[in-house]
Amino acid sequence: MALKSGGQFYDEQETMTVEERRTYLNGKVREAVDHAYHNAPSAREMLDRAGVQPADIQAIEDLEKLPITRKTDLIELQKTNPPYGGFLAIPPEDVERIFISPGPIYEPLHSDSIEWFARSFYAAGFRKGDIVINTFTYHLSPAGVLFHEALRDCGATVVVTGTGNTDIQVQTMLDLKVTGFVGTPSFLLTLIRRAEEMGHDFRRDFAVARAWFTGEPLSPSVRKTLEEDYAINTCQAYAVTEPGGALAYECPEKSGMHFMDDYVIEIVDHDTGKQLGPGEIGEIVVTPVHNGAWGIIRFGTGDMSSYITEPCPCGRTSNRLLGIIGRTGDAVKVRGMFVVTRQVEEAVLGIEAVSRFQVVVSREGQRDDMALRVELKSEDVGRDALTAELNERVQNVCRVRVDRVEFVAPGSIPEDQPRLVDQRKWD
Ligand SMILES: [Zn+2]
Repeated sequence: MALKSGGQFYDEQETMTVEERRTYLNGKVREAVDHAYHNAPSAREMLDRAGVQPADIQAIEDLEKLPITRKTDLIELQKTNPPYGGFLAIPPEDVERIFISPGPIYEPLHSDSIEWFARSFYAAGFRKGDIVINTFTYHLSPAGVLFHEALRDCGATVVVTGTGNTDIQVQTMLDLKVTGFVGTPSFLLTLIRRAEEMGHDFRRDFAVARAWFTGEPLSPSVRKTLEEDYAINTCQAYAVTEPGGALAYECPEKSGMHFMDDYVIEIVDHDTGKQLGPGEIGEIVVTPVHNGAWGIIRFGTGDMSSYITEPCPCGRTSNRLLGIIGRTGDAVKVRGMFVVTRQVEEAVLGIEAVSRFQVVVSREGQRDDMALRVELKSEDVGRDALTAELNERVQNVCRVRVDRVEFVAPGSIPEDQPRLVDQRKWD
């Protein structure tokens, strides 16, 4: 994979046509499943239990025939069958490095020529000549080392700062005229605040021009502050440790994150494992197709999102993941659609008159019923107009209609209560 020095894209893969990508990824899926089946005992058992032969998996759509493996499954399997839970798919002496995620989960890696996160950093503008502090941990987890290597793939110089040590980081940024930051948005804000406390004018005294984030959502207001007040270009990526990598990344358009072609990413109904279409909200399920050491197929991340297929003005052609809107535990399915707490918050909390709310899902006969309970800041508000507004906003954001808006007395919804309550009984 040659670096297109000075070009707009990191490599040719980013601009494959839809047809080329389908052919490429289907080939990779066949390879990955076949390799896992013949080399990783737990993958073989999983296929056998599902009554599926590797030859039955010819394309991404066929992955639906296989069950989803979740973090809890992986922890259990690794306990009973240490250290890799039967998912090691190469001879142990060929494992290049081992990462440890909370659980613990041991992840073997053999990367060969894979440039793991390089496309993501390249799209964020990191190049030769940049001096970058990498504030992710270099211990145990893959973050620090993999991001470090990706920065090098883009030609940048990396300062191996790791996590914490706010004052040292600030001093380093100043002394080395650091141009790039890699870490979480909140840590960058902490560093800027600290620099200001120390009497610096951040914009004048520091050279930080770009930042790359993962591990925590970048809120629009923080992005605005960093870009407008401090002239730092920001880009974010979605990464998950267990399948080992950055799954999706922002381009200069910053509207959705392009799928990385080193993985097959499905958005599925987390109850049935069935694949969902563009715009539908479901769990992100990942199959790495580049790490021959790790025979894991269909890893369920527990994160909920959706994707779009519209062409992106940047010229990259892969589908785009929209933001992570919650965890599978925060979602309930109402009349076939997942409703996620954060979406309802987005719909309701922008309305000035509302002080507190709760969504209660119940079952009326054979139909799901969704009630929106609302406490008002004051009684001095037109309830009909507010009901109409709430209905419209929830429908627009969640794509499910509210059956009833109930105005309840202040204090009726206790503060410690979840905002999304599922009262349905399935017996
Ligand atoms: Zn794009």
